[in-house]
Formats: sequence, structure tokens, C-alpha cells
Amino acid sequence: MTGFPKFGAVVNATRSVSTEQLRQTIMGLCAFPTRHTLSGARGVDAVADWLVRRLQSYGGNLRVEKDTWLEPKGQRVNKPSTISNVYAKIPGSKYPNHWVVISGHYDSRVTDVMDSNSNAPGANDDASGVAVTIEVARILATSKPDVGIIFAALTGEEQGLLGAKHLADSLVAKGETVVAMATYDIVGNSMGADGKKRTDYIRIFSGGDTPGETSVAATRRRTTGLDADSPSRTLARSVADVAKRYIKGFRTEVVYRQDRFGRGGDHSPFHAAGFAAVRFTEPNEDWTHQHQDLRMDAGIDYGDKPEYVDFAYLTNVTRLAAAWVTDISHAPLPPAGVTLVTDLAPITTMKWRANPDAIGYEILVRRSTKAEWEKTIPINKQSATEAKLPFSKDDYVFGLRCVGKNGARSLAVIAGR
Ligand SMILES: [Zn+2]
Repeated sequence: MTGFPKFGAVVNATRSVSTEQLRQTIMGLCAFPTRHTLSGARGVDAVADWLVRRLQSYGGNLRVEKDTWLEPKGQRVNKPSTISNVYAKIPGSKYPNHWVVISGHYDSRVTDVMDSNSNAPGANDDASGVAVTIEVARILATSKPDVGIIFAALTGEEQGLLGAKHLADSLVAKGETVVAMATYDIVGNSMGADGKKRTDYIRIFSGGDTPGETSVAATRRRTTGLDADSPSRTLARSVADVAKRYIKGFRTEVVYRQDRFGRGGDHSPFHAAGFAAVRFTEPNEDWTHQHQDLRMDAGIDYGDKPEYVDFAYLTNVTRLAAAWVTDISHAPLPPAGVTLVTDLAPITTMKWRANPDAIGYEILVRRSTKAEWEKTIPINKQSATEAKLPFSKDDYVFGLRCVGKNGARSLAVIAGR
């Protein structure tokens, strides 16, 4: 069997990333004195309008929306506050109720999370993630994806993931399906707190639990030893695979953890709702440039300022974002009915239901302890529903994904899970 070709639109998307556009977004966001969620008309409201105008200027098929609601008083919200997410959406031409969501949070903070007055540039946390998100929107503005895309600039992350919860809840309430969600948060600084520069990879955090799984599914997961294969981890592996196929000199590090130790992010409400959701963060954070009052102290320049963003690094982060969002949004939906035959044969038989939107399939194989797929086996036949594989089902994990006629690959589904 010969392999499937690359998807040309992914290659084009990776070439369309503009470092200058990324710089303009970050400088534009940092020009506001603060983007603290509770800064009201003189801060965060004006920022939301600026984001709406910037997204509208990209034209094409983007539907730009400001989603405003009254957030009640809460742990980090001292009075009921009207706050807004900003989205650009492209509805899916084939699957109108299915979405890929990519996000960054546009709110910022300083040392005291309730301080809505002090200068809070938030260049890396998280103007960098907003810049990635809206640059991918600019690149894909004229595309017509099969699966819809929501490019989301979210608010209230620092006050308790408010914007992400609001968006996840509203999608669930409408009965929509999120095929894949990723938040880009702290993705622009390559120089770590240890003084070491790391420019060749990005971390992908993915939780191992599967919220909402039925007791039958939980029993099957335990008995088949597929604990490391939650939907969120399957998404992380798919992005790692896109990086290998399309991005030279830049890779991913899949981390088996919902988030950095003891911390949280905007992917969590989506993961909790049962969707595949991951977080992207730079390799090596520098906390002197996050959540800090701007100040000089013992010769250290504290503050999250644009001069600490590595735009060449951020460009590579964005190339990978453009690649995987393009690939998954232009692919068929993931395959259904993917199982392994339980027999005592030394080979493995995989079965699935044929997908009319696919031209073929790829079987993915890895040893149970490997974070990333090790082998890809093409099946060049749309009507195929079975394959015999020369691997022991005791030692390997198997996935299956659909390939569309354009060469786009769906997310994988883990066999037998
Ligand atoms: Zn953040």
C-alpha cells in the first residue's frame, strides 16, 4: 500500500504565518494600560472592541462576534461584571454542528490578581496566545472547512477560566460537538528561568482522565489497559504527528498531565465537558515575566513585557497551529466502530465502519509506553472495514483515522477503547 500525499492547504498555511502580524497583535494588545477582566470601559471593554475590529479586517468567511454576559460575583470577581469573549467563526460546510476551537485569553494581570488598575501588559500571558489564534484566523479567513472553526479570544482566564467556561457551557447547551479544542497560553518566550533558551519545541499538556465516560467504557478502558489514551491525549498525539509530517525543525513534547503542576488553563472546562482539549505552553517558563508588577528589584526587570517575546519562536508555534487546525477542520469526522477482534491469534485484527466521506484510512501503531505514534499503515480503500496487522495486541496500541480526498487527516480513534 502506498502512503497518502500531504494536504497542500496545510503546507500553504504553514507558509502564510506572518511574524509582523504576530508582532502587531501583541503590540496592539500591550498598548492598553491593562486588560484586567474587571477593568471595564477604560480597559478590557476597549480591548474587546479592538479585537472585533482586527478580526473584521481579515474579511473572508469569518463571522466575528462579541459574546457579552453578566458574570456574577465570585471568588475573583468582586462585583457582578459585564464581560465579553470575542470569536471569529467559520461554520463547517459539511458538519455544521461540529467545531474545532483554538483560543488564547486576552485578559491580563499583575501580582495581585484583583488589581485592575496597575499596568499589566501581559505580552506573553497571554497576548502571545491571542496572537497565535487570530493569526490562524487571518490565514484561514477565506477557507471553507468541513468542520467549523471557532477562533476565540477569551476573557477572565486569570479570574477563574470564566470565558472558557462560558463558551464550553454554551456549546454544550446548544448540543454542539467540539472535535478538538486547544488553548495557547504562554507560548512566546523561549528563554527560561534557568537562563536556557529552547526554541525547537512546544509542550502539549493533556489530561488522562475521561470525564463523562460510562461505567461500561471505564471497565473496558481498565481491562484493555488504555488508561493513557483519553480523547485529550489522542488529540495531543495527533498534533505531534502533524508536526512530524509538516513542520521541519520544530517538534512537540506531549506531557501526560492536565496542566503545569498545580495550575490551570482554558482547555480544562472543555476537557471536563468530555471533549478532546489540550494546552500549549512554551518549554521553559520564566516567572519573572508572568503575573508580575512592573518593577526593578535586585537588578531583575520584572514584568510581562513585549521585549521578552521571541517572535521567531512564536512564528514556529503559529506554523504548527495553522497546520493542525487546517488539517483537522478539512478532514472527515473521525471513524466509528473501531474495535479489535478478541482472539488468541499472534496477529491483530482491527475492524471499523466505512466512512463515506473518506478516501481511505491510516492505522496508527505504537508500543503501550510510547507517547507518540510509531508506525502509520495506509489503507487505500474507502470501503475497507478490516485489517490484519502483524503486531501483538498485548504489546501495542492501535488507532485509526480517516483520510479525506484532499489528503486531510481526521483525529484518530483508539481501537477497543
Ligand atoms: Zn495565561
